[in-house]
Amino acid sequence: MATIAILGLGAMGQALAARLLTQGHAVTVWNRTRGKAMALAAKGAREAASAAEAVAASDIAVLCVLDYAAAAAVIDDAAPALAGRTLVNLTNGTPAQARAAAEHAAGLEAAYLDGGIMATPPMIGGEHALILYSGSKTTFDAHAATLEGLGTARYLGADAGLASLHDLALLSGMYGLFAGFFQATALVDSEGIGAGEFLKLLVPWMTAMMGELPGYAEKIDSGDHRVGVVSGLGMQTASLGNILTAISEQGVATDLLAPMLDLFRRRLGPGTADEDISGVFELIRRTRAGD
Ligand code: NDP
Repeated sequence: MATIAILGLGAMGQALAARLLTQGHAVTVWNRTRGKAMALAAKGAREAASAAEAVAASDIAVLCVLDYAAAAAVIDDAAPALAGRTLVNLTNGTPAQARAAAEHAAGLEAAYLDGGIMATPPMIGGEHALILYSGSKTTFDAHAATLEGLGTARYLGADAGLASLHDLALLSGMYGLFAGFFQATALVDSEGIGAGEFLKLLVPWMTAMMGELPGYAEKIDSGDHRVGVVSGLGMQTASLGNILTAISEQGVATDLLAPMLDLFRRRLGPGTADEDISGVFELIRRTRAGD
């Protein structure tokens, strides 16, 4: 069993602490605003008066606050106690912020892992909870068994920014899915069809369309968007144009889908009508040296 500090008792910090207590770990908790530790204290947590005191009582400090500005403030407060300990930062942020925090922790002689939580608080510890980690492999391996208790622990590499990169990329996919749902539902709503009713058609359709992704991925990885094309960019630009015309005619806003048609039209030119729509990836990807 480990001795663990949970720094930050928002909805997520509370869930992490509760889970670790259930698993029998010795948990010390701290939150900027007092009064949030009562339920955890009843389950056996000890409340520390400062972040430094919580860290000093523990081998691992799990930091989970609103953002990296808040995380930096807590790390500064806890700095005197961090040397020789492990800081696991599960605060949501950018890859650049994660890398800066890793450097800061190294300067304080703390081992550092950055994490991205792909779960809501009630999911913590459950079978669908996934937490992405990056940073020192040695540190991850040393604490993997403890971290697995919070959810499937997936280590992504030594670059501390990798967990955040994957976290934000997964969320980008999620928001794209939600955007499609909102746009499609607004279209049928224009004729009085309810969202719940429409879902019966939409979910199987979207599930079937997920089957297209491996083909697109292959084209993106090879850079060749002309292999095995069955629905070319020319046809799909006309089709998406029809969709946006219909959306406008129905009095529905086109905001969520219109940027995709702009990309299709920008990509469409002499010789690209027969390539796949995965070609639009070339318009949004970062240009690499040699391209
Ligand atoms: P909450 O809004 O519930 O809690 C925010 C926490 O941050 C509180 O403990 C708050 O302390 C603390 N905080 C804010 N500013 C500061 C500061 N300047 N100094 C010290 N502490 C500060 O957020 P969650 O617990 O839900 O989220 C925490 C992290 O987990 C976020 O980065 C979030 O993106 C991530 N996350 C959350 C998920 C969710 O569904 N909730 C899902 C996946 C990730 P105080 O009580 O004093 O205000």
